[in-house]
Amino acid sequence: MLDRELLNITIEKFGLEVSDDAFFRLDKYAEMLVETNKSFNLTAITDVEGVTVKHFADCLSIFGFADIPDNSTLIDVGTGAGFPGLVIKLFRPDVNVTFLDSTKKKLGFIESVLNETEMTGETVHMRAEEAAVLPKYREKFDFATARAVAALPVLSEYCLPFVKTGGKFISMKSADIAEEVQAANSAIRILGGETESDNLFSLVENVPRRIIVVKKKSQTLTKYPRKTAQIAKKPLK
Ligand code: SAM
Repeated sequence: MLDRELLNITIEKFGLEVSDDAFFRLDKYAEMLVETNKSFNLTAITDVEGVTVKHFADCLSIFGFADIPDNSTLIDVGTGAGFPGLVIKLFRPDVNVTFLDSTKKKLGFIESVLNETEMTGETVHMRAEEAAVLPKYREKFDFATARAVAALPVLSEYCLPFVKTGGKFISMKSADIAEEVQAANSAIRILGGETESDNLFSLVENVPRRIIVVKKKSQTLTKYPRKTAQIAKKPLK
């Protein structure tokens, strides 16, 4: 299903190349994504080039902007059909990935891909703001990632409470969000974070992307995250 040459050409600029084993797993995932998508809507992108570049190379680009040490713990918030969490897991099986989403059926799909590729990972069927107050998950992860889940001020309140002090929150965005990034600065500080890097780049020609890396400098106050309605009504600023 995936175009291996196109994948490698696209991720070369991040210093990456997929091994035979990783390609086998990623390709199995792509095949299952497109097949399952016929009966259950997981993605609007189903052509070989689109899936290769806009899902798989896009998610792998994270490794170009964040050093993820061996055996790190990572929670992918609002993972949907597994982006970027499942791509990270299949590319780097040493990373302990937790997949969180409020939609159970999508997590079922992730579980079947994990089974099929003989990988492991916990799936959590909860809203981020509900899971992040539980001792089992609060400040327990080296990394939190999110792609296409919410605007950055809201997303920071969802994600930063999961991250240990010294860990990182990595947000994958489209490029054109200067105002959103500006608006998130004080939310990030309130939640104990500090923007480490804000990276604008082209995945391929005319596909601009932005990866924002936030370092967790101090613990998040226990009053965050707030309840869903409050977060939506009054994003931190
Ligand atoms: N990250 C995936 C991707 O890039 O393809 C999915 C993006 S999809 C647009 C947003 C996902 O976030 C949905 O699967 C939705 O169920 C989930 N989501 C939104 N808000 C959430 C929350 N507060 N807690 C958990 N999941 C949430």
